[in-house]
Amino acid sequence: MHINDAVFLEDLCPKFRFRQWRKSIHKFTEKSCIYCGKTSESIDHIIPRSQGGLSTTENCVPACLSCNGDKSDENALCWYRRQKFYDPRRAMAIRAWLEGDLRLAIRLLQWANPNFKVKNKNLAKDNSEYTAA
Ligand SMILES: [Zn+2]
Repeated sequence: MHINDAVFLEDLCPKFRFRQWRKSIHKFTEKSCIYCGKTSESIDHIIPRSQGGLSTTENCVPACLSCNGDKSDENALCWYRRQKFYDPRRAMAIRAWLEGDLRLAIRLLQWANPNFKVKNKNLAKDNSEYTAA
C-alpha cells in the first residue's frame, strides 16, 4: 500500500508542474490567442513536435482551439502568414516568443491589440524599465 502511494506521488508531481507551466503560458497573454486574439483554450507548439519542436516555453504559445486545430502540425509562422487575421506585429511577436524574448513578444501583442492589458506585475515593471532605457 505504501509502495503504491509513493509511486502515485511520483507520477502526480510532474503532472502538477506541467499544469502550473501551462497556466503560466496563458498568463503571459492574459489568456488570449497569440494568433487571433480570441480566448486561448490550448497550448500550441510553434514548431510542431512532428518537426522536432520541443515542449519548452519558447516553443509553446497560448492559442484558441480554432487556430490550434486549423494549424495542425504545420510550422506556425508559415501557417499564420496565410490567415485572414494575419497581422505583421503578431507575426513578429511569434518570432520573438520563439527566440525566447517574451517581453518583446508581449510588447508587440500589446501593440497589435490596444485593449490587451498586462496584469503580470513583473512583466509590466520590466516593460516600463525597457521604455525608459
Ligand atoms: Zn486563435
